[in-house]
Amino acid sequence: MASLSLVNVCKTYKNGFEAVKDVNLDIRDKEFLILVGPSGCGKSTTLRMIAGLEDISSGQLWIDGQLVNMLEPKNRDLSMVFQNYALYPHMTVYQNMAFGLKVRKTPKEEIDRRVRQAAKILDIAHLLDRKPHALSGGQKQRVAIGSVIVREPKAYLMDEPLSNLDAKLRSQMRVELSKLHRELGATVIYVTHDQVEAMTLGTRIVVMRSGKIQQAAAPGDLYLNP
Ligand code: ADP
Ligand code: ADP
Repeated sequence: MASLSLVNVCKTYKNGFEAVKDVNLDIRDKEFLILVGPSGCGKSTTLRMIAGLEDISSGQLWIDGQLVNMLEPKNRDLSMVFQNYALYPHMTVYQNMAFGLKVRKTPKEEIDRRVRQAAKILDIAHLLDRKPHALSGGQKQRVAIGSVIVREPKAYLMDEPLSNLDAKLRSQMRVELSKLHRELGATVIYVTHDQVEAMTLGTRIVVMRSGKIQQAAAPGDLYLNP
């Protein structure tokens, strides 16, 4: 279960710039919430405040009923999925996916269960003994996603995760992300400036403009400016 709540959240950067102005947003369990809007409207700042990578200037962030404004990123139980993923070249797919859990001293049986489950969902179960150099670009991307999934975070935070990919791989990954969201029953907060991505992935779309929420609606009910 995961629910997040932003209450009157504002961000003023050190130079005085107000990047986020009084944002109120409830994110429900299992939602695929899209933050969309033009470059510079405050999407990344909002996501980074949720992740704990940026201080909240005023307002409150609640995760599952707990006020987390002052909580370290690592204690928020959220996973940020970055654009540029890195795999350990000397480790197998299995070891790459297991590494984060091993560091946290998760029991071996539990690691094994989670790695196999994630590998199955991602369709890379047959690649567990390979090293990254023997994988395609798309397969590497899946391993990177797999190493996040095994942590079983309360929510996934994604900032334009597909923007570096070519068009073909991007549309393929869109399908996979939808499938992942369904099969994991995950809560996702996803930043993009791409309206196609917003419409195909989102269960709810929040449009930001100049640091404020302009509208929030289901994909079908949304009016997007050209
Ligand atoms: P988006 O993700 O929608 O493109 P951002 O949240 O990255 O927008 O940025 C929102 C605004 O805040 C932009 O005008 C940007 O230039 C500004 N901004 C971002 N980071 C900083 C910073 N560290 N200091 C000052 N201004 C910043
Ligand atoms: P260690 O060096 O502590 O054994 P490893 O990363 O080599 O750590 O492996 C962790 C556990 O996962 C070991 O029990 C290993 O047998 C198991 N394991 C590693 N790769 C695979 C795989 N492809 N299939 C099944 N089990 C694996």
